[in-house]
Amino acid sequence: MADVAIKEVHKHYGAVEALKGIDIEIDTGEFVALVGPSGCGKTTLLRMIAGLEDITAGDIEIAGRVVNDLQPKARDIAMVFQNYALYPHMKVKDNMSFSMQLAGAPKDEIKQKVEEAARILNLSDYLERFPRELSGGQRQRVAMGRAIVRNPKVFLFDEPLSNLDAKLRVSMRAEIKSLHQRLGTTAVYVTHDQIEAMTMADKIVVMSNGRVEQIGTPLELYDEPQNLFVAAFIGSPSMNLLDAKVVDGGFQVADQPLIASGPTDWLDNGRDVVVGVRPDNFALRETGLAIDVTVTEPTGAETQVAGHIAGTPVTCLFRERVEGRYGDVLKVVPNGPLHVFDKLTGQRLGTAQAASVN
Ligand code: ATP
Repeated sequence: MADVAIKEVHKHYGAVEALKGIDIEIDTGEFVALVGPSGCGKTTLLRMIAGLEDITAGDIEIAGRVVNDLQPKARDIAMVFQNYALYPHMKVKDNMSFSMQLAGAPKDEIKQKVEEAARILNLSDYLERFPRELSGGQRQRVAMGRAIVRNPKVFLFDEPLSNLDAKLRVSMRAEIKSLHQRLGTTAVYVTHDQIEAMTMADKIVVMSNGRVEQIGTPLELYDEPQNLFVAAFIGSPSMNLLDAKVVDGGFQVADQPLIASGPTDWLDNGRDVVVGVRPDNFALRETGLAIDVTVTEPTGAETQVAGHIAGTPVTCLFRERVEGRYGDVLKVVPNGPLHVFDKLTGQRLGTAQAASVN
């Protein structure tokens, strides 16, 4: 059953149409990431679920009940903000229990809930400290503890890791994921970081310009992006997108040799398409597409090569060590799926197989 249902939701700020008809169903216990570039409307949508923004049109339901006109505190949600929003003059235990104190919960129950949340979050030794006496990661855990003690129906996260350094972000994202798996509470998580979304979420909603571009599991989005926007957004480094023409069952990229393919009878000969190739789906060969190398970056385990194929910027990731300097030419052939998109509409047409690569 959908725990949170967003139905044909619109948001206008005066003349600005921030959300242009959003439909999303979030199942009970699911961890859903809303991801997209700055300004796409993800924070606005999260704040509308929380009740912090009015809904211009459409409905938002939580646990089967339309909440459009309900106050935030009546929605059975708990929100974790990017800036933690802790009270500086309150100790950790009071920050965590503040909402229960306001609601007049019995002291014993408050103590028990705070201790349980502190145990789950490894904060038991910090309950008597003030926020200024904690690291960034510990403060973020207190913010989560405050959400946990409320035992909400839905957690809402607004870029909760963006104030942390890169290393702490990686460990906190693992903590949040494992916490979600232990608690099993429905969660909606806003981020602009597609890696965060890919690694944490059961389901990802990719947004752009106030619309949903695609909804799917992380691997569905990676393996079958429905349009060029999702193809370019999901995956790091990004998918390479080469302008091509369908010629004799293969793809011609400028005057380069054909990227021969499996049966492509679903494509009209002469059709203009864009062929997407993931950076790790290229193999070095004696003959193939020519890459004019710009720079080669060895990381030890792999080598990243940046350059151009027929003037289009590309990035390739090789498992082997590759020598190459500015001005060198390397030859590659695709050795993985070829994602084919319509040049005009940007919509996915299908997947073709790369030619034999041996
Ligand atoms: P970011 O990652 O930068 O936070 P976002 O995807 O969360 O971006 P929103 O903050 O939801 O984007 O904003 C969506 C759009 O609505 C933007 O174009 C923004 O300028 C506009 N917007 C947001 N809040 C207001 C407001 N109070 N008044 C007018 N326009 C607003």
